[in-house]
Amino acid sequence: MKNLETPLVFEMSVSGRQGVSLPKHDVEETALPQHLLRENLDLPELDELSVVRHFTNLSQKNFSVDGQFYPLGSCTMKYNPKMNEEAAAMPGFRRTHPLLPESMTQGSLELMYKLQESLKEITGFTGFSLQPAAGAHGELTGILMIKAYHQSKGDAKRVRVLIPDSAHGTNPATCSMAGFIAETIPSDETGAVKLDALREACSGEKAETLAGLMITNPSTLGLFERNIQEIIGIVHEAGGLVYGDGANMNALIGIVKPGELGFDVMHLNLHKTFSTPHGGGGPGSGAVGAGPLLEDFLPGPIIVEKEGDAYAFVTPLKSIGRVKSFNGNFSVLVKTFAYILSLGSKGIRRAAEYAVLNANYLKALIKDNYPAAYGEGRPCMHEFASSPNLGNDVHTLDIAKRLIDYGFHPPTIYFPLIVKESLMIEPTETESKETLEAFAEALNVIAEEAKTNPELLKAAPHDTPVSRLDETTAARKPVLCWRMLIKNCEQAV
Ligand SMILES: *Cc1c(COP(=O)(O)O)cnc(C)c1O
Repeated sequence: MKNLETPLVFEMSVSGRQGVSLPKHDVEETALPQHLLRENLDLPELDELSVVRHFTNLSQKNFSVDGQFYPLGSCTMKYNPKMNEEAAAMPGFRRTHPLLPESMTQGSLELMYKLQESLKEITGFTGFSLQPAAGAHGELTGILMIKAYHQSKGDAKRVRVLIPDSAHGTNPATCSMAGFIAETIPSDETGAVKLDALREACSGEKAETLAGLMITNPSTLGLFERNIQEIIGIVHEAGGLVYGDGANMNALIGIVKPGELGFDVMHLNLHKTFSTPHGGGGPGSGAVGAGPLLEDFLPGPIIVEKEGDAYAFVTPLKSIGRVKSFNGNFSVLVKTFAYILSLGSKGIRRAAEYAVLNANYLKALIKDNYPAAYGEGRPCMHEFASSPNLGNDVHTLDIAKRLIDYGFHPPTIYFPLIVKESLMIEPTETESKETLEAFAEALNVIAEEAKTNPELLKAAPHDTPVSRLDETTAARKPVLCWRMLIKNCEQAV
């Protein structure tokens, strides 16, 4: 920040330069509202090509699924087929105003209805709402439905929600937002939910205050929870309901239906499992599915089929109300439907099979240097978490940063919290054998480097415009305008 040169070199504006040439106007000039005009806007003055180059070059400084391998565990950065984009960009979908009446939007309603039906078929749930805008939003929706269910029974004492310690951070956050108390259930040495602890939390007087359980299966350790039916049984027995965090369904689609396992409600991240782009924060969709006990509580309106191939909005009987304006992130719904139709039921199953195969192949290729933290002797599902110990004070952060030098996006790191120095890898089904092998080789070379030249890892990445950022300030106080940068520099000088 002490060096003023970098931001100044960045300045490309040339006084008087223009990027447009407009024809002479052929209408009478009118006075502009003076109070809206500003003298000192200080806008950059550039020609069109400079602007195009500027933004193209900026975009190439970042990682993307279209550019590089992006094995971000739990977050599923799979390839997003371009056909989905074409479908979402069709004028009939893209240009439809959300306030148009049902009679004029039958095509859009039909798509949403058929998507609801497809998701029911894939998950085994009996009802679906497409409203929530993201995974965490879907969680809140589902947990509010559980709350409304208990309240409808006059059961206001039920305030505790049990959450395994391997859960995504959004789970306990969701519970507190909904006014519940989140209670942690430990995992055993195999990564499974400790059944004794669960039984204890659901027994005796504790049963009366139990609202439910929030559980991710496969867990964020990439392991299928083998006792899932017993777990669900214990919670149901105590009068609680079971929420499934289905953000990442990549190992299950086409193979296992959570509704049939006994889950009461679950959200799906359409932007993870169903291949719609979600880098940079969205838009997403956290569609929520529910079984017989909860489907009447779904947020409304949802779409139903009427006689004569017509579609209409209805609000479920005991709906918790709207959770999003209009109909959710509609373009994401179109992309999801295009993805499901293009894969078909066989293709959906194959996607899950390849996701699991790829994760297991990669796990085997790096097992000597990066053994999986849990699940010894078992295949993993679509992802796995390793706990690397490369010596020489090399940490997971250093490994992640060094991967950038080799042209790979780092995996998820330091999550789940129960894995020390976690490196959590999800290759996804869309990657080739060659890509997996190249990534494994890079990781294994890094393990060598950790022995021979650990300083190289500690200073990585070496080839990026900026190297190690303060990630908290980078996320909370991003400097998005270079002028601010100069101001900061002046202050720093
Ligand atoms: C991504 C994820 C979430 C949150 O989803 P968002 O769309 O980011 O809100 C919740 N749980 C799990 C397991 C996830 O992987």
